Amino acid sequence: MPWRKYSALALVWNGLTGNRDWTVCWRDAAPRDRYDVVIIGGGGHGLATAYYLAKNHGITNAAVIEKGWIGSGNAGRNTTIIRSNYLMPGNIPFYEWSMKLWEGLEQDINYNAMVSQRGVLNLYHSDAQRDAFARRGNAMRLHGVDAELLDRDQVCALVPYLAFDDSRFPIRGGLLQRRGGTARHDAVVWGYARAADRLGVAIVQNCEVTGIRVTGKRVTAIETTRGVIRADKVALSVAGSSSRLAAMAGLRLPIESHALQAFVTEGIKPLVDHVITFGAGHFYISQSDKGGLVFGGDIEGYNSYAQRGNLPNVEDVCESGMAIMPLLGRVRIVRSWGGLVDMSMDGSPIIDLTPISGLFLNAGWCYGGFKATPAAGWCFAHLIAREKPHPFAAAYRLDRYALGRLIDERGAGAQPNLH
Ligand SMILES: Cc1cc2nc3c(=O)[nH]c(=O)nc-3n(C[C@H](O)[C@H](O)[C@H](O)COP(=O)(O)OP(=O)(O)OC[C@H]3O[C@@H](n4cnc5c(N)ncnc54)[C@H](O)[C@@H]3O)c2cc1C
Repeated sequence: MPWRKYSALALVWNGLTGNRDWTVCWRDAAPRDRYDVVIIGGGGHGLATAYYLAKNHGITNAAVIEKGWIGSGNAGRNTTIIRSNYLMPGNIPFYEWSMKLWEGLEQDINYNAMVSQRGVLNLYHSDAQRDAFARRGNAMRLHGVDAELLDRDQVCALVPYLAFDDSRFPIRGGLLQRRGGTARHDAVVWGYARAADRLGVAIVQNCEVTGIRVTGKRVTAIETTRGVIRADKVALSVAGSSSRLAAMAGLRLPIESHALQAFVTEGIKPLVDHVITFGAGHFYISQSDKGGLVFGGDIEGYNSYAQRGNLPNVEDVCESGMAIMPLLGRVRIVRSWGGLVDMSMDGSPIIDLTPISGLFLNAGWCYGGFKATPAAGWCFAHLIAREKPHPFAAAYRLDRYALGRLIDERGAGAQPNLH
């Protein structure tokens, strides 16, 4: 019996019959010479876009073109945090829509993405920071997003192992979003790939895009290592490679690429039940189901297209971690790796048309595009199909930099390395 849908029954049947009836997760398609829509980039965003393009808009003559393997970019390298604790008007509805999609994702795509709403706790260390978090929490609640401002004792009851008083940055409290948490990054990519494939989208791996053909301000085709592919519409969803791909079409983007590292320790008994972020530096930590502590911090200060980091940031991240959680000094880091993030000038993304007809852009996700995966796919698919921005992504226009309508969530100004 060919089980196309994953279920408890399928698990039992296959267990009893020697696991012979599982079908491939997705087909490894060979590129055809023409599609209605070509999506460049087989990360979470590209695959989610392909899925919603087919599911919501009935566009199935589409291909996702990936230079490596599915999930070889940031989608498989991130620290898996999902949340919608945003402040700015352009951001809150978008990220809350993403959170709602996460909440129904596994049923929708019939894949266990291990969505775990374990709570995201942002620590504060000063009165001024408490006021800023109170404002953020109020803005969230006004938009129907859950938020709780906790004092020191409430935080201590939740996470007693942190350094509360006898530390350089005493913890005064925190802003908690209980619906935030983590999702298994690889599973998200595999689940979207499988769901898009089921609807007829071609997933083409090991196919690098080397050129974008534009005739008279209209995109006509892409050049790849496996030949030329013609398309009516070409969608860029390549994260840290956005500026390089856009340059192939003659566009210059307000984006810088930087490496961002992540770290995993040896497995320890369950300790960190939530996602915790440090308020006096850049550090975030959670614990994986295998027991490893997963954490990260700042991007590298220089621009790069290399998917690897350097030792000064290792020191910086570990120093920040030790400031709130001294017991970290007793565990060993067993793995670290780097990804290539697309830092925009205001720290917020771009989902928009471009000056070239038929060429669409999804970029500028900085540190935070994993949590956006479902909504980015949803809104980008809408943009590609209807050539109009989706209302939830209406603020993510490319011309906002020229018009001065920045969405500066961090309040750091036009400084990509500070977002
Ligand atoms: C270390 C790290 C930790 C992070 N932690 C978090 C987190 O906790 N929470 C969160 O929300 N976000 C996090 N992020 C950010 C998040 O991972 C990214 O914003 C998001 O994954 C970007 O979208 P994507 O999944 O489509 O990108 P990617 O997976 O990078 O997809 C882009 C794809 O394009 C492909 N590509 C590039 N050039 C070409 C070409 N010429 N031809 C064909 N294909 C091409 C790449 O191979 C890649 O697979 C983190 C990022 C890193 C690096």
